[in-house]
Amino acid sequence: MRARERPSAAVNTLDLEPLPVPRSPDRPILIAGPCSAETEAQVLATARAIAPLGLAYFRAGIWKPRTRPNHFEGIGDEGLKWLTRARAEHGVRLITEVARPRHVEEVLAHNFDAVWIGARTAVSPFAVQEIADALAGVDIPVFVKNPINPDVGLWIGAIERLHAAGIRKLAAIHRGFSTADRSRFRNKPMWELAVQLRRHLPELPILNDPSHIAGSRDLVADVAQRALDMGLDGLMIETHPTPDEAWSDAAQQVTPARLAEIVAGLKIRVPSAHDAAFLDSLSDLRDEIDAVDANLLNALAQRMRIIEDVARLKRAENVTSLQIERWEEILRDRLERAVELGLDPEYVQDVYGAIHEAALRRLSDVMNRRS
Ligand code: PEP
Ligand code: MN
Repeated sequence: MRARERPSAAVNTLDLEPLPVPRSPDRPILIAGPCSAETEAQVLATARAIAPLGLAYFRAGIWKPRTRPNHFEGIGDEGLKWLTRARAEHGVRLITEVARPRHVEEVLAHNFDAVWIGARTAVSPFAVQEIADALAGVDIPVFVKNPINPDVGLWIGAIERLHAAGIRKLAAIHRGFSTADRSRFRNKPMWELAVQLRRHLPELPILNDPSHIAGSRDLVADVAQRALDMGLDGLMIETHPTPDEAWSDAAQQVTPARLAEIVAGLKIRVPSAHDAAFLDSLSDLRDEIDAVDANLLNALAQRMRIIEDVARLKRAENVTSLQIERWEEILRDRLERAVELGLDPEYVQDVYGAIHEAALRRLSDVMNRRS
């Protein structure tokens, strides 16, 4: 069961300034570079190879928050020089991850062009506040990754803390979420959470990080396209001259040549179109969807009324609300039918997870009613 924060329905407005990067409707904002700065030669070779792709920022992690110890935890302060050299030689703007006020000080001392806050830092309001305080009065853009847990409130809270510190060039990076359920992705995208963020902060640019969602390089292009299909504003893609030898996140990094191919292959969508035949057909199809949704809601309401009858029966016999064999049977059967109907079983599992959770809640409510 997943603990999703339900933010209030209100749309907040943040007075933001545009990101100081070249923007055009037919090009997503592109941030690329290695997961970690490893050697000066690796940083310079990557920057040289990808600078011609029109990067908004060249990325490389210097201080790496790793889930477990005894993995490469970043080259540290020494990497600052390598990155500034990459900027001097290849004209790239620089971005790196900051997790501590000390990182902010170092990055500002080296005139970095932007910073990002990582997923493991975004979970901690204390850490985010310290970073926001260290950045107060500074004019560089700050990109905020989603927290590792699926909690939009925490993500918005981090952005609000930075805004309250006077930072006006803000953007979010959707990098997927750690969840208990199995998925083909390293971090489950849960696109709906990016949609929720867009609903709450409509003026905030949202980039997508297909590398950390995918976890493997062959899925990166598809995830990137999916993000652009949804109208997200840009991409952060991990790129390494010899990905298999990378000191961190080897499986998901792509070569500069592959990055060029991915970028060239991206299809850019427009927010809407004015062609009359298109608008007519779209409106007809939307009417059909509305009718299907009315049926869906009626079916859900009917299901819930039956659950209430079950609850009364169980209450009378003092039987538990959860009977695990019945639940296993429902899941097995519904997933089989889903496959027959051409539906993605992961999707149907999510839907039934929500249906079952609501049913258990209603069972308990009715079974414990005083009357
Ligand atoms: C990274 O960008 O290399 C990184 C550590 O990302 P995240 O914070 O999304 O895990
Ligand atoms: Mn990484």
